[in-house]
Amino acid sequence: MNHHHGTQADVTVLGLGAMGTALARSLLAAGRRVAIWNRTPGRADDLVEAGAWSAAEAADAVSSADLILICVSDYEAVRGVLAPIEDLLAGQDVVNLTSGSSADARSLSAWVEKQGARYLDGAILAAPAEIGGTDTAILFSGSREAYEARRPELGTLAGRAGHLGVDPGLAAIHDVANLAIMWSVLNGFLHGAAVLKRAGVRAEDFLPIARGGIATTAGWLDAYAAQIDAGKHPGDDSTMATHVAAMEHLLEETVGAGVDTSVPAGFKALGDRAIAAGLADQGYTALVDLLLADQG
Ligand code: NAP
Repeated sequence: MNHHHGTQADVTVLGLGAMGTALARSLLAAGRRVAIWNRTPGRADDLVEAGAWSAAEAADAVSSADLILICVSDYEAVRGVLAPIEDLLAGQDVVNLTSGSSADARSLSAWVEKQGARYLDGAILAAPAEIGGTDTAILFSGSREAYEARRPELGTLAGRAGHLGVDPGLAAIHDVANLAIMWSVLNGFLHGAAVLKRAGVRAEDFLPIARGGIATTAGWLDAYAAQIDAGKHPGDDSTMATHVAAMEHLLEETVGAGVDTSVPAGFKALGDRAIAAGLADQGYTALVDLLLADQG
């Protein structure tokens, strides 16, 4: 371990933007000794008041603990911070909570491991104010040994922390899979609210029915996940043909209301392709084969 630079800490946090600051604050609140560094000075004052040790140089921060959390804008910035101090990384656990692609995570992991450190990639599914919450989720992938060893600290950041596997890219892929769900639900809600607004219905009056619809749909997922994994799409609840007919109703109602058709046209474009591919009497999950077939 690199303890030749004075102040001892349990954790070093590099990057004190909105998220880095929240991470450091949460660790301090959990009683950890925290060393902090930020490229631009002056962002550490509140954390210092809360008990953090602010280092003028990244090298000093990194040398004061053997667990390094880094959360900066992007991977280019991560490389920019870590490359000049690569000699200090041996024996460290480096946990990168910066958002990026799975390819970014895999190549950074290989580089960090080459320096003799263990690497964990983390995807934060929360806003800064939610860090430290019991319901907050952070997904990790990469070194299982590092995850097991650092569970106490990582657990203080998010009540729902989990390790997805040793492929460091998994956290980033889960992150975007979750975004696909988020925007699907939000776009559906917004589209429904727009069509209803034309009929004089307030979004607040749509809300209980919308919540019910989301819960009903979520209730299908257990069976649908099993169908996707099995590659069998029986359609015993509803066939693709039935779905596509309903998509047509949504599109008609949308056009009639003078509302933008982007959202329902997207649904119907996929549904029409499923029918054209001969999937009319399959279940809705058969669409996944269409999505996979696209990329060969
Ligand atoms: P932010 O408030 O804009 O802070 C960006 C941080 O990155 C600052 O500390 C900045 O330092 C640093 N930085 C940027 N370029 C740098 C460079 N070349 N070298 C060194 N440091 C550099 O962003 P944030 O909200 O904290 O987000 C940080 C990461 O967390 C992002 O990848 C983001 O996607 C992820 N995240 C954020 C949220 C959220 O709700 N905020 C949620 C999930 C994930 P300076 O002060 O010197 O500019």
